[in-house]
Amino acid sequence: MINVEKYQELAGNLSAKNIELVAVSKTKPVEDIMALYDAGQRQFAENYVQEITAKQPVLPADIHWHFIGHLQTNKVKFITPFVHLIQSIDSIKLLKETDKQAKKFNRVINCLLQIHVAKEESKFGMNEEELAKALNYADTLTNIKICGLMGMASFTDDEQIVAAEFIYLKDLFDKYQRANASIDMKILSMGMSSDYKLAAEHGSTMVRIGSLLFGARS
Ligand SMILES: *Cc1c(COP(=O)(O)O)cnc(C)c1O
Repeated sequence: MINVEKYQELAGNLSAKNIELVAVSKTKPVEDIMALYDAGQRQFAENYVQEITAKQPVLPADIHWHFIGHLQTNKVKFITPFVHLIQSIDSIKLLKETDKQAKKFNRVINCLLQIHVAKEESKFGMNEEELAKALNYADTLTNIKICGLMGMASFTDDEQIVAAEFIYLKDLFDKYQRANASIDMKILSMGMSSDYKLAAEHGSTMVRIGSLLFGARS
């Protein structure tokens, strides 16, 4: 069961700070998505291609779908027709393929570059050198638009570690925003259920919240 009042309170608090709320609906049924939709939510995110392509056609057309999971190049074509923002671009190869598929559908696809900040090896993303290269490369592409950066902090209760990672991301965001006049970076996507307050304090413009809205995933 979705707690609509809790959703509205969260959405209101974030909107007062000009932070966009993306509801992470992975593993959750369309009924739960509809409950939030009816309460006013329009931005939803998924991390598996199979799941987002199954849900999108059966849900209202004005939903803005975000893709936040690791994306294999051979699967980009399945989300290209409808995706609103791919937040998890983690390689130049993926950037190139997204541009190629976007051309076929005559679209310009909004993208965030995912930055690796967490201590865990398993988290995907670019380092600073790769980010600089990707931004230069993106300048040559016509059918993708780099809108900003996304990052996931370490999975830890140690707020100092998490805060340091958010500060690092925000610094990178500011640095490359200034460095690339041709690229209009507006979105800094950081913060999840457990750390969104900290992310908000450190300059996040978009949070990705799943379990806090939908309940724990099994
Ligand atoms: C699952 C997921 C989230 C949301 O996680 P919660 O802890 O449930 O809020 C956010 N970002 C990414 C990239 C995810 O995979």
